[in-house]
Parts: sequence; structure tokens; C-alpha cells
Amino acid sequence: MSEHSSTSILSSNLAAIRTRIAAACERAGRDPSQVRLLPVSKTVDEARLRDAYALGLRELGENKVQEAQAKSEAMADLPELRWVLIGHLQTNKAKYAARFASEFQALDSLRAAAALDTQLQKQGRALDVLVQVNTSGEASKFGLPPDEVVAFVRQLPAFSALRVRGLMTLALFSDDESKVRPCFVRLRELRERLRQDAPDGIVMDELSMGMSGDFELAIAEGATTVRVGTAIFGHRPTPDSAYWPGFAGEPR
Ligand SMILES: *Cc1c(COP(=O)(O)O)cnc(C)c1O
Repeated sequence: MSEHSSTSILSSNLAAIRTRIAAACERAGRDPSQVRLLPVSKTVDEARLRDAYALGLRELGENKVQEAQAKSEAMADLPELRWVLIGHLQTNKAKYAARFASEFQALDSLRAAAALDTQLQKQGRALDVLVQVNTSGEASKFGLPPDEVVAFVRQLPAFSALRVRGLMTLALFSDDESKVRPCFVRLRELRERLRQDAPDGIVMDELSMGMSGDFELAIAEGATTVRVGTAIFGHRPTPDSAYWPGFAGEPR
């Protein structure tokens, strides 16, 4: 595919997603400026990401630390490009994540919080973080069970390099809206509860929920960030099971 047509496909995909986000906001009586589109770039190569940057994207979501780090180094010449980690973090990777990530959306253990905080302090950096919640109840999904989140968040002020911004979830993978929607509702209700008794310094504004297959539903339920990969960059060569071990969702 020529460079030109690849860029124009990217550009029209982006325009289409923005139109759909705006329409979903309109239906929900929400302001589209309150919904952030986080492009998810896992498996997408550097040349296409440079095209995306040229089209104005300044944030990229990546699932794996190693891939994200390699890309961030290769594209270090691009000013103001933020790398957002959205996948499970093994504690032994915290040191690398702390170097280049601007945001981490999958915090789900005190061990990871402590490891990140230590590494960030060493490097004199801070990191925006979202707490990942398992709203679908599937054993294969990362994230804290909803009933453990309040107690977890109470411990986070101890980690001063972590700037807690809100919550993140992956809904059940299903075409059945009546199964997907309750996951988003659960996350929103949890945020309301946390807002009432959040510790000082903890801001619970962000609800990162919704992907290519379900972002409109997530917006209807209050998403402030939608994480969209395939609908922008096209299909990935690797199956989703590479990112969510034990993945056994219904095909969409
Ligand atoms: C890959 C990924 C996405 C985007 O998925 P698409 O279905 O391609 O939009 C969103 N969130 C997480 C955590 C991911 O790993």
C-alpha cells in the first residue's frame, strides 16, 4: 500500500471515530470535549505511528512495556508524544515503565504501586495512574474485584509519585449489550462511591472504558476516555489472547 493511501485510510478512520464519538455524546447529552480518544497502537509499526503523529495524535496506548519502550525510544524525536500503558504490569518491568510512560491505566496491586513509586522517585518523575477494575467477574481479566477498590484506593496516598486520576475497565467481550452495559455502570457507580470518600490528593475524574466494539455504549455510561485500536489502525496480526491471558470471550 502506498504511503499516501495508508495515511489517508488512517485519517478517514480517525474522522469516522470522532464523528461516532460526537454522535454518542449528543445522544447522551454530553460535551464531546469531555471524552478523550486514546488511540491504542499495539502491534502498529513505527512508520504508521509517525503518520498518526503527523495527523495530530499526541498520545498512544500500548499494552506491553517492552513494545512501548522500544517505540518511545525510536520516536523520542517527536515532541509532546505521551505514552500510555494500558496493560498488566509485572513488577520487574516497573523500572522501565517509570522511565518513559506518562500514564498507567492498569494499576491493580500494592506491589505494582510500590515498585512504580520507588522507580519514579529515583528518576524524579511522576505518573498519572488509573486503577483497573474487573467489572465482568471473569477470572481471565486483570483488575481488582469491585468490592476491594475502596480499600485499595485508601492506601494510594502513600505513593507520592503516583497521581491517581480514576478508574479503568474492560467490559465483558460480547455482542449482547445487556451483558456489556452493566460493566460500565459498575465502574461509574464505583467512581461515585469513591468520590464521596476518596483520601486527600486522590482525584476520581477519569473513567477509561470502551474499545472499538463498545465505546458508544461506554460513552452513554459516562466514559471520559475511550481506548480504540482496531477501529483506527485496522486489524492486528496477534490475537487478543496475547494481551489477556486465558481470554475466552464470545467473538464480536
Ligand atoms: C488492545 C486494547 C484496547 C483496544 O482494543 P480494540 O478492540 O482494538 O479497540 C483497549 N484496551 C486495552 C487494555 C487493550 O489492550
